[in-house]
Amino acid sequence: MNAPTAILSAHDITVEFSGFKAIQNLNFTLNAGELRFLIGPNGAGKTTLLDSICGRVKPATGKVVFKDGTELQRLQEHQIVQRGIARKFQTPAVFGSLSVWDNLALSLRGPRNLLASLRSRLSGQQHQEIDKWLNVIGLQEQVNTLAGQLSHGQKQWLEIGMILVQTPDVLLLDEPAAGMTDHETDALGKLLQNLDPHQTVLVVEHDMEFVRRYAHTVTVMHEGKILCEGDMETVQNDPRVAEVYLQRRVEA
Ligand code: ADP
Ligand code: MG
Repeated sequence: MNAPTAILSAHDITVEFSGFKAIQNLNFTLNAGELRFLIGPNGAGKTTLLDSICGRVKPATGKVVFKDGTELQRLQEHQIVQRGIARKFQTPAVFGSLSVWDNLALSLRGPRNLLASLRSRLSGQQHQEIDKWLNVIGLQEQVNTLAGQLSHGQKQWLEIGMILVQTPDVLLLDEPAAGMTDHETDALGKLLQNLDPHQTVLVVEHDMEFVRRYAHTVTVMHEGKILCEGDMETVQNDPRVAEVYLQRRVEA
């Protein structure tokens, strides 16, 4: 078996908000083609780690390296998207006053504005591409529905579709199963497992049943650091993991 190749790595990054260190000297590596789950109690810094990969926040120190050495912390958010890293936010960010179709069309790699993504202007291949993903996300019947009228779960699917049409190399998904029914969550897990094997996925998730079912490698964060990493069994049997989750429960 070939040794895994790193596609993305964070080197000693620290992210500060007015002096508060949301991430502290964190080191993290994602291997090409893997499906990785990132868990940890609320406030652990999971979203901030995704933010520092996609350029939404800039680390005060350290670097984030992509593929052959591109330092992402030097780039703007849109430049990072162009390099093939797509991000799904914790709260679905769809265009509520546009139809499902228009949301997907706008997310295609080519069109940069609404006019260019009008149906009449898209190529046959682009139409097929959108139809393919509509099918995958199960929103064929809602194709003309305004995104703002979708249920929370459907909005999640739409945003996942908006990422998939970009055919990114790396997908960063922040709690994609939130608001989904058990059936939808299951479909999402299967979808993530069956993506193109060259695509790399990092999923932040708090539904432990979901993680247990679909995760190969799990990274646990706590207080801005990586607490431990390994398969689900290793992580579950790590007393430090039990402690940080228990601690939260006692506080709650
Ligand atoms: P998680 O996603 O693991 O729940 P976050 O990354 O959202 O955690 O947050 C980590 C810590 O950083 C929390 O204490 C949070 O309050 C703080 N934080 C996140 N974003 C900001 C911000 N923009 N300004 C100030 N503090 C923030
Ligand atoms: Mg979060």
